Amino acid sequence: MSNPSLLILPGDGIGPEVMAEVRKVIDWFGANRGLTFDVDEDLVGGCAYDAHGTPLTDATMEKAQAVDAVLLGAVGGPKYDSLDFSVKPERGLLRLRKEMDLYANLRPAQCFDALADFSSLKHDVVAGLDIMIVRELTSGVYFGEPRGIVREGNERVGINTQRYTESEIARVARAAFELARKRDNRVCSMEKANVMESGVLWRDVVQEVHDAEYPDVELSHMYADAGAMQLTRWPKQFDVIVTDNLFGDLLSDLAAMLTGSLGMLPSASLGAPMANGRPKALYEPVHGSAPDIAGQGKANPCACILSFAMALRYSFDLGEEATRLEQAVQKVLADGVRTADLMQSEAGATPATTAQMGDAVIAALQASQA
Ligand code: NAD
Repeated sequence: MSNPSLLILPGDGIGPEVMAEVRKVIDWFGANRGLTFDVDEDLVGGCAYDAHGTPLTDATMEKAQAVDAVLLGAVGGPKYDSLDFSVKPERGLLRLRKEMDLYANLRPAQCFDALADFSSLKHDVVAGLDIMIVRELTSGVYFGEPRGIVREGNERVGINTQRYTESEIARVARAAFELARKRDNRVCSMEKANVMESGVLWRDVVQEVHDAEYPDVELSHMYADAGAMQLTRWPKQFDVIVTDNLFGDLLSDLAAMLTGSLGMLPSASLGAPMANGRPKALYEPVHGSAPDIAGQGKANPCACILSFAMALRYSFDLGEEATRLEQAVQKVLADGVRTADLMQSEAGATPATTAQMGDAVIAALQASQA
């Protein structure tokens, strides 16, 4: 059997800095856990535009389609702000998502105990939190037709259309149920079935998929506005939340901030299974290219490292190794190692650099072997 394959796209700004630390982690798993990946690296975003005049070449797109998983750093930066929309760095990322048909966006909201005080909510409400938001990513109101701004009589009218087919709902529901089976086996589906027909269909289809294929998973339904309230009141009541593109956009940002820091948040975007059974997959930190700190060794690499942990779990079915890596990050935080973004007012304390944080994770991985 050939080694599992990875395409690494570090991108712009702090992307290459945090990805360098992920490379250390990948090498560690190769040297110590017998997990050797075939790793290729390429350009995406502004750096691809600089080299090729496009934020993603066809050749890179082909590589992304062929590998088991893509790992992306971040794209964008002020240098590219004045570019035409069609060649902006973000277009590279959007092309990857669209052509790989990555319809399920997984955003974990996990609160490491050592960082519970970073949340704006009370310690007890968030300490130990571990929930997963599954957001439909390729349909719904951001894509539905008709759309536009038209003139009606004396005024303009803005139009967007919420549209979901049964199959679009069913496939993201399946992704959520499959995930729940690897976690606490509970799914809460959120929509607005009280006021939207697409919400009624969403609720029906999620229930049908559940009854036919996943009766062992506990399923509940909640209106998305009530869900937002419950997420801030007592988020630990949830395990997996599945919701549409628009509500997922809002609810995943809300859930993410329960945990405090942008530098700690990983994500995965998954599509249909490939011939080898693995899903099409793109893993990336939630944060952007952070131009304000790029090139200074200040970036927190944990979000990107934890994105690789998600790849281990969801692309390669290596849940134990993913847990090993997540626990290594947890240990580093518990030991008090902090990049600047994770420091509140520790007077006189020197923040760890990006590389020091990565090295501390490697040391914790090494200790996990003992
Ligand atoms: P950002 O996430 O890059 O930064 C927001 C703030 O968080 C900044 O102060 C930054 O220093 C800090 N931050 C972010 N990641 C950090 C990390 N790992 N460690 C420590 N601090 C971190 O968002 P922004 O400033 O709105 O956008 C900057 C650029 O990134 C823009 O060009 C934007 O379009 C792009 N962007 C890209 C993505 C992506 O690639 N997926 C996502 C969001 C924004």
